[in-house]
Amino acid sequence: MKPQPLERQIQRLKQQLTALGPMHPGSLSQQYNVCGKPDCRCKDPRHPQKHGPYYQLSFSWRGKSTTRFVRPEQLRAMRQKVARYQRFRELVNAWVDLEVAREQAERTQEKPTGGN
Ligand SMILES: [Zn+2]
Repeated sequence: MKPQPLERQIQRLKQQLTALGPMHPGSLSQQYNVCGKPDCRCKDPRHPQKHGPYYQLSFSWRGKSTTRFVRPEQLRAMRQKVARYQRFRELVNAWVDLEVAREQAERTQEKPTGGN
């Protein structure tokens, strides 16, 4: 298969970037907690049943780390946002790859006549 011209590939990436919905950086994790009540099931010596799961979103942006709880009813939407952000980064990286390749191709074309 003949590779697409770089410009067409870049146009396609731009279209995909424009079509992305809401996004958010970070990763989701779940945790189980122990509470303060002395006789709670979470403190049972034989079969402790911790509370949870609680979901949290951790992300670092512009040098600042943040962790936020995510309500169960928001979990699905947040998973989508996190996945979209991953996709966003992939698309941007692919775009930069193409720009670097284009620059390289232009230099290669200049060589025979210019000679550096
Ligand atoms: Zn408890």
